[in-house]
Amino acid sequence: MSLSRTLAEVRGCRLCAEHLPLGPRPVLRATTSARLLIIGQAPGTKVHETGIPWNDASGARLRDWLQLAPETFYDESRVAIVPMGFCYPGRDAKGGDKPPRPECAPTWHPRLMEALPDIALTLLVGSYAQARYLPETGKMTMTARVAAWRDFGPGTIPLPHPSWRNTAWLKRNPWFESDLLPELRARVAALLSSSAAA
Ligand code: SF4
Repeated sequence: MSLSRTLAEVRGCRLCAEHLPLGPRPVLRATTSARLLIIGQAPGTKVHETGIPWNDASGARLRDWLQLAPETFYDESRVAIVPMGFCYPGRDAKGGDKPPRPECAPTWHPRLMEALPDIALTLLVGSYAQARYLPETGKMTMTARVAAWRDFGPGTIPLPHPSWRNTAWLKRNPWFESDLLPELRARVAALLSSSAAA
């Protein structure tokens, strides 16, 4: 099954429409040549409105972590963006966004991952992506998973969600900026410069 065919099917998906307050609008990007894969959570309202992933304050912080300009971050030929839930899931009782719809990743990710053969680095942003793609970490907390980032090999890095809600987390965990971010930036720069030259 080609990637373009799968993406067309995703864009017509209504599997969990009854649970989506703003209706289905899948937001993801992928081409078969992508080298970097970013697996986040689910679109917020701004991303839902624009159809552009990470087009919000969290995205600005993520691009700063990666030291990527928007034109590189949004270069589909090099960067695939496939969240755990493709549509805006609505708000929870505390005013935050609900979790990604649980149907979405099991339904679509296997076909999408199969169609992305050149991914060399996957960023698991937030606990939902980490729970699915680091099953060996069991019930570890997000902090414990991110702190163990060296254990997951050269092709995977777990990250906290770059939301303002995690600003206090960043202050409590200074090793993230001093140790993890320099390595993250080096791996991303090496990967994307080599794919640009290819
Ligand atoms: S969240 Fe995923 S499963 Fe639900 S309608 Fe959107 S694309 Fe389909």
